Amino acid sequence: LDPEQFRKQGYKIIDFLADYYQNIETFPVQSQVKPGYLTSRLPDSAPYNPEPIETILQDLQKDIIPGLTHWQSPNYFALFPCSLSTAGFLGEALGTGFGIVGFNWISSPAATELENVVIDWFGKMLNLPNSFLFSGGGGGVLQGTTCEAMLSVLTAARDQMLRKIGRVNIEKLVVYVSDQTHFSLQKSAQICGINPENIRVISTSKETQFSFPPNSLRSAIVEDIEAGFIPLLICATIGTTPTTAVDPLNPICEIAKEFGIWVHVDAAYGGSACICPEFQHFLEGIEGANSFSLNAHKWFFSTLDCCCLWVKDPNALIKALSTSPVCLKNRATESKLVVDYKDWQITLSRRFRALKLWLVLRSYGVENLRRFIRNHVNLAKYFEGLVAMDKRFEMMAIRNFSVVCFRISPLAIMKSENLSRNEGEEEVNEINKKLVESINGDGQICMSHAMIGGDFILRFAVGASLTDYRHVDIAWEVIKDHANSLLNAS
Ligand code: PLP
Repeated sequence: LDPEQFRKQGYKIIDFLADYYQNIETFPVQSQVKPGYLTSRLPDSAPYNPEPIETILQDLQKDIIPGLTHWQSPNYFALFPCSLSTAGFLGEALGTGFGIVGFNWISSPAATELENVVIDWFGKMLNLPNSFLFSGGGGGVLQGTTCEAMLSVLTAARDQMLRKIGRVNIEKLVVYVSDQTHFSLQKSAQICGINPENIRVISTSKETQFSFPPNSLRSAIVEDIEAGFIPLLICATIGTTPTTAVDPLNPICEIAKEFGIWVHVDAAYGGSACICPEFQHFLEGIEGANSFSLNAHKWFFSTLDCCCLWVKDPNALIKALSTSPVCLKNRATESKLVVDYKDWQITLSRRFRALKLWLVLRSYGVENLRRFIRNHVNLAKYFEGLVAMDKRFEMMAIRNFSVVCFRISPLAIMKSENLSRNEGEEEVNEINKKLVESINGDGQICMSHAMIGGDFILRFAVGASLTDYRHVDIAWEVIKDHANSLLNAS
């Protein structure tokens, strides 16, 4: 690693990326390449001799960029955002640049202590109860993804329960989710040895806006206990993936308390909004939960990966996840005055993620971060207003944050196709599916879809850092054009 070469090549990469952002609107948002496109363009084996960075960057432009879906494009409205920022990128570059491996405190004390500090700062911004903060006896950790965080807490909850009931009873453990809970919980449960048949999926309904119904949850728990099962964990969500529904934490946590069940709150996307006082009511009842996670790489301007996990009882995590090999023994660990984060997560080696969060928090400050979130919410509100004015469309869920769920209404489709009501209803999902496919196929904007209660819906998710009102206006024109073609053609 030659520092002068590093400097020269580093500048070139930054220039390349700055140009990329300047031109980002010229690329089709969703990559339009066909499977195998890259394999056919690249050589069969690695080069024997070194190649200059200029040649590599030319190939990047020519071969790699066409195969990218531009998540940072202001015209990206699919899934959830993965919002980048200058501070987030530079923090990531710094963290990678130092090249440390911070598995325990002694391996890089600043990495651990900065993580302790920023996770408490962030917890305070969210108004989390003190019991989730280091300063209040709890604490937090930065992991890669929500899936890893869920696996960590499930393992902690599982082992805590098995210590009470005996390991032979693992088959009796039951996990409760709603039909809107992200599938990563299911994956984590499978990995940590929960019988897949013991994952109770509680149905939600349109009447309660797809939020976790506490009464059905309670009935399922009582039924399980009567049948000899042991309730282990409930996963509640603040901002579900299909419609951004919010599960009611107060009643869920009360039920959990009655039966001694661990509650994990997954706020992967919606959690970030709770730095704004007007969204903090969504966290009412959080004091009754055991763990809480959000993805700062989704809607908190930090690059992937950065999942923040807070727990009330770090010891539960540590008991389940710690190892103490001789090679890592050291005085700091033995003093018990330090956090060794390898014992708070699945992996041993870990990245210096705290730096990017530190840069984001310091470069923007709470005031600006709230402003960014509110701006996205206002853009989504604006889009919602545009959709509401066109009677051919209908809203499919309440907008809680910056995602609008809608579709072409059955009535509009029936009219255009001259169909009877029943036939029309059958066509509704198909036409809406075609709508999202044709929008994404032309590349001007990118959107995604979800199925809720048997209905195929379109999701318009605002959250890219560069998105502004003009992009929302263009997006709406694109959506209307495609809808016109579909409705006129049928
Ligand atoms: N939970 C929710 C509510 C999500 O929306 C997502 C992803 O979109 C996840 C969990 C999974 O997150 P990750 O990819 O970080 O595991």
